[in-house]
Amino acid sequence: MSRTGTLFIISAPSGTGKSTLLTHVIGLNPQKRMLSVSHTSREARKGEQHGVEYYFISAEDFKERIEKSEFVEWAEVFGNYYGTSKTAIEKILLQGKDVFLDIDWQGAQQLKKVIPNVTTIYILPPSKTVLYSRLQGRDLDATDVVEHRMDEAVKEMSHHTEYDYVIINDDLEQAKLEIQSIVMSKRLQRPYQIEKHHDLIKKLLEE
Ligand code: ADP
Ligand code: 5GP
Repeated sequence: MSRTGTLFIISAPSGTGKSTLLTHVIGLNPQKRMLSVSHTSREARKGEQHGVEYYFISAEDFKERIEKSEFVEWAEVFGNYYGTSKTAIEKILLQGKDVFLDIDWQGAQQLKKVIPNVTTIYILPPSKTVLYSRLQGRDLDATDVVEHRMDEAVKEMSHHTEYDYVIINDDLEQAKLEIQSIVMSKRLQRPYQIEKHHDLIKKLLEE
């Protein structure tokens, strides 16, 4: 029997370490875990590929898709549109896989209304100074973009109160352990265990 997939939302200010932690936790069980690939109207950065990091589309195309209700959630972040396609998520969930969404607080709020069982995780940096240096260290954005993202970080972080779990990404190994523990504890909840071990439980309860 195939298990039902679950959804995990990971949010954090840009540069906190979301991608690093997601790559790790998905890599621990790549057959059963998948990252949802969002659509965005942002320009692709050097090295980013269409369909891998994002589906890169124009702002016009994005707006048309909003009109057609193609997104389960969408938001404007740093002046660009970002959104999660409904069909992509459904496909992964039907395969019984866990889906991980790297989305902002606006998207998390929308998704929680549609899928109440979603597990939400907020990642905080150990300090603003560290966040700044990680943002710079990624070497992905121009200085003005880094400054803009730092300005937005405080507003973004104030939403951590809306999440089920909070991880402080200071020591990377500790943070990796914590994210894996959250995912595992979700899987150990009774409804998932009953579904997964249906035959065993039936046998155990036979008189
Ligand atoms: P995000 O996806 O949140 O924007 P990244 O995963 O790209 O962030 O991480 C930003 C930078 O910080 C990367 O260079 C990454 O290697 C580094 N980084 C992530 N977590 C840690 C950590 N716990 N300690 C030190 N550096 C980290
Ligand atoms: P970046 O431009 O650094 O890839 O992402 C910027 C921000 O957009 C991050 O906070 C990321 O979580 C958020 N984001 C990425 N994809 C989506 C999405 O599909 N929906 C929403 N709401 N936010 C997203």
